[in-house]
Amino acid sequence: MDLCSPKLPIFIELIPNFVHFIGLNMNTELFAARHIGITEKDMPHMLQTIGVENLDQLIYETIPDDIKLKKPLDLPAGIPEHEFLKHLQGLAQKNKIFKTYIGLGYHESLTPSVIQRNILENPGWYTAYTPYQAEIAQGRLEALLNFQTMVSDLTGMEIANASLLDESTAAAEAMTMLFELRSRPQKKENVCKFFVSEEILPQTLSLLHTRAIPLGIELVVGNHETFEFSEDFYGAMLQYPGKHGQVNDYASFVKNAKANEIKVAVAADILSLVMLTPPGEWGVDAVVGTTQRFGIPLGYGGPHAAFFATKEEYKRNIPGRIIGVTKDTDGYRALRMALQTREQHIKRDKATSNICTAQVLLAVMAGMYAVYHGPEGLKFIANKVHTSAKLLAKGLESIGLKQVNSAFFDTISVKVGNIDKLKEVCESREINLNYIDDETVSISLNEATSEEDLKLLLSCFIVSQDNTDDISFEGGVEEVIPTSLQRTAPYLEHEVFSSYHSETELMRYIKKLERKDLALNQSMISLGSCTMKLNAASEMLPLSWPHWGNIHPFVPLEQAEGYQEVLKSLEEQLNVITGFAATSLQPNSGAQGEYAGLMVIRAYHESRGEGHRDICIIPASAHGTNPASAVMAGMKVVVTKTDENGNIDMVDLEDKVIKHAENLSALMVTYPSTHGVFESSIKQITKLIHDNGGQVYMDGANMNAQVGLTNPATIGADVCHLNLHKTFAIPHGGGGPGVGPICVAEQLKPFLPSNPVVPTGGEEAITAISAAPWGSSLVCLISYGYIKMLGAEGLTNATKAAILNANYIKDRLKGKFDVLYTGERGRAAHEMIIDCRPFKANGIEVTDIAKRLIDYGFHAPTVSFPVAGTLMIEPTESESQAELDRFCDALISIRTEIDEASADEPNNVLKNAPHTLGMLTSDDWDMPYSREKAAYPLPYVAENKFWPSIRRTDEAFGDRNLICTCAPIEDYIEA
Ligand SMILES: *Cc1c(COP(=O)(O)O)cnc(C)c1O
Repeated sequence: MDLCSPKLPIFIELIPNFVHFIGLNMNTELFAARHIGITEKDMPHMLQTIGVENLDQLIYETIPDDIKLKKPLDLPAGIPEHEFLKHLQGLAQKNKIFKTYIGLGYHESLTPSVIQRNILENPGWYTAYTPYQAEIAQGRLEALLNFQTMVSDLTGMEIANASLLDESTAAAEAMTMLFELRSRPQKKENVCKFFVSEEILPQTLSLLHTRAIPLGIELVVGNHETFEFSEDFYGAMLQYPGKHGQVNDYASFVKNAKANEIKVAVAADILSLVMLTPPGEWGVDAVVGTTQRFGIPLGYGGPHAAFFATKEEYKRNIPGRIIGVTKDTDGYRALRMALQTREQHIKRDKATSNICTAQVLLAVMAGMYAVYHGPEGLKFIANKVHTSAKLLAKGLESIGLKQVNSAFFDTISVKVGNIDKLKEVCESREINLNYIDDETVSISLNEATSEEDLKLLLSCFIVSQDNTDDISFEGGVEEVIPTSLQRTAPYLEHEVFSSYHSETELMRYIKKLERKDLALNQSMISLGSCTMKLNAASEMLPLSWPHWGNIHPFVPLEQAEGYQEVLKSLEEQLNVITGFAATSLQPNSGAQGEYAGLMVIRAYHESRGEGHRDICIIPASAHGTNPASAVMAGMKVVVTKTDENGNIDMVDLEDKVIKHAENLSALMVTYPSTHGVFESSIKQITKLIHDNGGQVYMDGANMNAQVGLTNPATIGADVCHLNLHKTFAIPHGGGGPGVGPICVAEQLKPFLPSNPVVPTGGEEAITAISAAPWGSSLVCLISYGYIKMLGAEGLTNATKAAILNANYIKDRLKGKFDVLYTGERGRAAHEMIIDCRPFKANGIEVTDIAKRLIDYGFHAPTVSFPVAGTLMIEPTESESQAELDRFCDALISIRTEIDEASADEPNNVLKNAPHTLGMLTSDDWDMPYSREKAAYPLPYVAENKFWPSIRRTDEAFGDRNLICTCAPIEDYIEA
């Protein structure tokens, strides 16, 4: 073709539409057609079932008129999947992958390919939900138990949780847990001082600061050697090794602290603990850190799993989730989340932590890294890293440079004469170091550091400094860890850590666990409020590319141009979708977003001289994280009632607003409500709050019902968080990662959170909410892709389809299950609550229905939230009509079984559910119903049967005999 042909521009104009000329119904390039499960030809039947003429009528009857958007979203049209991948490849090239030795809590690591392929890239793992239904989650529960065992062993502590969001928030959780425990055993109720070693990572210090202020904790930063122990302190936080690599012996510090009733937490490097005395041996109260360097990509800041280990006596105060061992109905070993009664949604405003979503997928990967390498493999890796550091130190010393750490593991600190020259040389050779001041540099080595890398590093120093180039390793390298700090305690002795060291064995072990778990690659997971939609392969693929994975969060911005472009675009996309002025991607979960949003509101009031405003009004139906976040932000929670229709009770709300007008800080409201309804009085509500000096926080967990049709700015909110792991297609990963950005109106923009290393946020930014400047950047690629590929129209159609699907289920279940709440015109939003309380007359509880659904191949919807004894169903737009029908058929069939049940005969198909293969093939079957009815209640089930691996778990037994590590079974049976 002649490119200069004058006809070309005309042809180019046709190109965007040329697919229309093909004249077929199936446009294979339209991502929306892959993301949205229903098709044009399903519509007539679905609309007829609901009783509307067309989709527009349904939307009209669902969303109140006064909040409907008048214009389409101001976003470009969607692009095909292959184009998106090409686009991201182009952007990836703008990220420069230097050899990075910055350290500060982040290190290049090698993800074993077997773990990358079989876990990170496997929907069987990444699309699973939080393991609330233990019978169909034994695989990830076992993987998490391995993680806890690994953490307990390496830290030398008695008990560990199954992950927190990052090292800095984990440190903050330790600070607040110890604050909570400060009156044990001796009263220290009025003691608020907390010592923080100056060796702490800068991002952790910033975060401790953020969390300390609202609780009235006073941070005192100093040198642990000169610290004057006194009764005025309730706790202390140390870093091990220190931020620039110095390894200190804290034994006497801990001893002195104990004598003064000061509890001690240590932030530790998990790999160093393979070689160093674990803090547990000093008798510390908590050990926290990140497991990033156990095979997790840097991802420009996250996601990575943090750990939290402590003493058994504090088990009821541990933040986050703990996996514990118990037994099932038949007495077999079974795992489940332990101590559920201490879960945050029950503690509400008594909570001391708001952790809900954690970092499950990353914890699974880090635990598998330990399983794959085992104790000997980890020793090899730690030794390799340590030896690299020793060699480099020796080499630098031999050319006349001074290395200042008297003891170190992987990080050395070096005094240099000409730091500018060194930086220039290093940058020209694509090397990043940590430049501490104008004469000191620290270098953190890692698992990926090779001999060549060490040579190159040395040469940079030789070239840049006026020193001899006569490197000498004469006499070998000396021991640099004092005997008292050399680890002697064994670790990872459980056989799981020595059984799967070949790839074949590990691949099969991962598969074995995967097969026990029901994820989205098996069937629909209709979890109300959690929005389990498609996590498209095209959205996920780039996560495995090194140009996105292997980049440290603290590199100079010009090395991360690809990331900067994606993150900025995502912020802009979210601004458009919410109608707000600015977005911060920093929070690593919805609950962290809530906390961030409330802290921003707090800063706003303070900036106007109204710092006394501290009342946060929250409806009774709110998610438990809402009151927990409010308390953490130093606010007093006032609960407002809901009326009989499930809406906020306007009379009660007005009473409370007027009563607290002087001190009103905020209202937290979920929209559409957790009752699955678009409350029509929402604008009246937000106006009432504004008229009385408050700000409106919208919990955006239900954003899937809003995108493109209405938005938080339109309803009158000032700030919202979004759960990118719900509405914006980041997979749940079995309970994390999450991303919970906050989007804010103009007046709150100056206060968006910053980071002490790489400044972000507004002009009057609050201090850090997460360790990394942009939180979990790597998985932000997913949401960016989701929005980019769907485009304005696709996003809006997705919302409409979500509402259509929910209403279709509602009407198919009509007469069988009562829907508790609907909007004024009788419609559900994108989810609905079905009432299971009437079935108590037949002896059937909501749990029985949840467990029976497993026999039908389905994960239960949300159980007993926000109303006890109910199920909350949210199908999302990604399910097909066929799947919706199977799900409805299952529930309708269960309804028949409920009718057959009676309170007098508890031995029925519901009470015994779920039925395992072992139970059904046992020689003694004496149930009053057939095995076939138990296993194959509907024809579709037989064709694709999913077997639960255990029967119902015994919660009480497990909580009485708490075991949270891979102990052999005999240990707990005897207990
Ligand atoms: C999921 C959810 C949250 C909390 O989000 P996380 O990411 O789990 O912290 C808050 N509110 C509602 C209504 C939710 O559904």
